[in-house]
Amino acid sequence: MRYEHVIVGGGLAGGMVAQEFREQGGDGSVLLIAREPHTPYHRPPLTKGYLRGEAGLDEVYMHPDEWWTEQSVDVRTGTEATAIDPSAHTVTLSGGDSVEYGKLVLATGATPRTLPDTVALRTLDDSQALAKQLDSGSGHLGVIGGGFIGVEAAASARMKGWDVTMAVPESVVWEHLFGAEVARYFQRHLEEHGVHVHTGTKQLPEGSYDVTLAGIGVTPNTQLAEAAGLTVSNGVETDDHLRAGDDVWAIGDIANYQSVVHGKRLRIEHWDVALNQGSYVGRTWAGKEDAPYSVVPYFFSDIGDWTWFEYVGPGSGRVDVRGSMDDDDFVAYYLDDDDHVVACLGVNRSDEVEAAKALISEHRAAPAA
Ligand SMILES: Cc1cc2nc3c(=O)[nH]c(=O)nc-3n(C[C@H](O)[C@H](O)[C@H](O)COP(=O)(O)OP(=O)(O)OC[C@H]3O[C@@H](n4cnc5c(N)ncnc54)[C@H](O)[C@@H]3O)c2cc1C
Repeated sequence: MRYEHVIVGGGLAGGMVAQEFREQGGDGSVLLIAREPHTPYHRPPLTKGYLRGEAGLDEVYMHPDEWWTEQSVDVRTGTEATAIDPSAHTVTLSGGDSVEYGKLVLATGATPRTLPDTVALRTLDDSQALAKQLDSGSGHLGVIGGGFIGVEAAASARMKGWDVTMAVPESVVWEHLFGAEVARYFQRHLEEHGVHVHTGTKQLPEGSYDVTLAGIGVTPNTQLAEAAGLTVSNGVETDDHLRAGDDVWAIGDIANYQSVVHGKRLRIEHWDVALNQGSYVGRTWAGKEDAPYSVVPYFFSDIGDWTWFEYVGPGSGRVDVRGSMDDDDFVAYYLDDDDHVVACLGVNRSDEVEAAKALISEHRAAPAA
């Protein structure tokens, strides 16, 4: 069996390669190998609207099943790529079939770290299982970890009327990401809405919990790449064109790519990065792209319907906050030693966040206050 284009991983990054390749007029056979029993879908709703029952599956899946057929993209769900051989240009599938490829992209995503007696929230199936529990009446959710998944799920459970207690190792929720001043704004929203936040600890206080969620980060799925002899260190290393080897690319949560914007390697676990890197490889395969990948990483998060933010970066440094945190209307610039913008977070300030992309890539100062 031979396909000219093979995509390993059926998440957003992998799905975007196929979508953009076809949109750009790319010709030739495409196979997408997806371990989960689903065609590619978006994960952000899984802790937000979908978990709360406000958004349907139509807002979760990238496309209806028939779209992939119409686009002549063969999607093999419930199928794992178990080995790749870059010199022979082959992929072995669970079940034993071997597929020869012309070009290959790895988009295998990440797996949540786990703790005993806790649940994780990564997949559609995880979200459906938690949603079922949240719908079964009121209860008490314990959340271990102060990352995005924990905070978003905590807010959603609270909106569903559950008691929620969080154990967060940092001294303020998200302090490690945004610094204490900005982090206090987000923690205030959690607490004002009744989430019990215990900081400086990895352990929940004694109590009875109906469900305990571990939101303690993820590990990139690099086993295939490593076994194939590709360079792996905190993800699959790629060049500034997202190439990991001859006729092999790596994108999304697994990609430790050389960023021309930042002049260093980055690996970023966010929706917009998966989307843009997938599109980039799709365009490359269609012969429509040969410049280095140069998108400034962007991400967003919602805390229930209480507040939300957008961020471009990543970077840390002196923080210059403009606007009003009390009125949920502010922008925070993160500045390096030369006072150049390295990151920007905005709450209800999309224009400033968008404009900060150019400030970051051109190493410029923040606009006058
Ligand atoms: C609950 C949740 C909420 C999120 N919310 C936000 C948000 O609000 N904002 C934001 O910016 N980001 C958010 N993210 C992060 C964002 O969704 C991820 O960065 C994005 O999904 C990464 O896409 P990916 O395609 O690289 O990996 P994944 O989405 O993990 O997809 C990889 C797929 O490949 C499959 N796979 C792995 N190994 C193999 C193999 N050997 N063979 C075949 N298939 C394989 C996996 O099972 C998986 O289905 C959220 C993530 C989660 C889990």
